[in-house]
Amino acid sequence: MHQTSFNPTLEFAQLLDSQDSLSPFKEEFYLNEGMIYLDGNSLGLLSKRAEQSLLESLNDWKQLAIDGWMSGTHPWFTLAERLGAMTAPLIGALPEETIVTGSITTNIHQLVSTFYKPMGKRTKILADSLTFPSDIYALQSQLKLHGYSPEEHLVLVPSRDGRLIEEDDIIDAMTDEVALVLLPSVLYRSGQLLDIKRLASAAQEKGIILGIDAAHSIGAIPHQFHDWGVDFAVWCNYKYLNSGPGGVGGLFVHNKHAGIMPGLAGWFSSKKEKQFDMEYTLDPAPTAGALQIGTPHILSMAPLIGSLQIFEEASIEKIRLKSLQLTEYFMNLIELELSDYGFTIANPREGERRGGHVSLEHEEAIRICKSLKENKIIPDFRAPNIIRLAPIALYTSFADVWEAVQRIKKIMSEKQYEKFENKRETVA
Ligand SMILES: *Cc1c(COP(=O)(O)O)cnc(C)c1O
Repeated sequence: MHQTSFNPTLEFAQLLDSQDSLSPFKEEFYLNEGMIYLDGNSLGLLSKRAEQSLLESLNDWKQLAIDGWMSGTHPWFTLAERLGAMTAPLIGALPEETIVTGSITTNIHQLVSTFYKPMGKRTKILADSLTFPSDIYALQSQLKLHGYSPEEHLVLVPSRDGRLIEEDDIIDAMTDEVALVLLPSVLYRSGQLLDIKRLASAAQEKGIILGIDAAHSIGAIPHQFHDWGVDFAVWCNYKYLNSGPGGVGGLFVHNKHAGIMPGLAGWFSSKKEKQFDMEYTLDPAPTAGALQIGTPHILSMAPLIGSLQIFEEASIEKIRLKSLQLTEYFMNLIELELSDYGFTIANPREGERRGGHVSLEHEEAIRICKSLKENKIIPDFRAPNIIRLAPIALYTSFADVWEAVQRIKKIMSEKQYEKFENKRETVA
């Protein structure tokens, strides 16, 4: 598909849709009539296949009870490993480097417990000043568990403009006092995609452990974590991967660390064949599976089975290509149609620095988001002034984006947002 001659008509959007090989996947998802869902980067939609794999797992429980661990449609004892292997192509990992377990925050705790080994003057943890609060809370509490004060030992790379973080600034902050770096692949507000390959190479050169939080890139952007030499990564499966609210997350550990003892051990950290020997000396799995702790949350993993099949069929490269075209098209329309209404595009324009969402700043962001919802467009709001809009390659069409811009234009020209209270909802 070539977007050479952009024009703002609905016919042009329909032409792009007719050339889109991913368009049949939209049928697989539950979309409410008339609704344009642009919040799949917070909670992806339910697909029929995810629903089916969940129902199959429930049925295994119904029919097999305890025997569901080793038999049935999706045997539970190896489900985390199987889902890890299905995830591996999305992040450029070997199957044994990937496991589905925990949540982003608990996985950060697990991986920092495992990899943060302060020694001599190398005691600090490096992160960035625009990162997601939960990641920061986890790092602060890990430092405190080691007896260090976060004020001194957690270094946050500043942003020059409040939106973006420069790779040069991160690399400059990788001093010989830093033991571990945790960075997002894509910043959750501005949608900036960091150059992980470059950062991983700098971290390796300086002997620093690098962890990546891929919450806002997995399922939207291909990665090469193995080849780049990233030490570990975490992500959730309920955003772009559509595994459902509270769906179990995932993690990656590079196989150069195979056999590492988990910082937080449990019986599911064990080599699988030895787990039921019930010995008191843990023999950890020689895979990312060693970072598991207790019994996997089967019913919260089950939708991911069906969902990942869709990604296998669609291919992450095609998804990324379409996502870039959707966001480019969206920004072109915003600039053309909404230039009089005080919006600023806060995400980077260049494809290689852009994640999967468009980030709009507006002083009335809270009230505009409420008005969007009333008009059946689902965005999300991020304090203090950001409207995030994520067209999703698997279920958003170019015509949806066109329609969304028409509705936003109407909201703005009629000042429809003024009737709402300027107060954020509890869950924004
Ligand atoms: C969504 C998100 C989280 C949420 O963490 P959970 O433990 O899954 O609740 C954490 N960090 C980032 C960067 C996120 O985008």
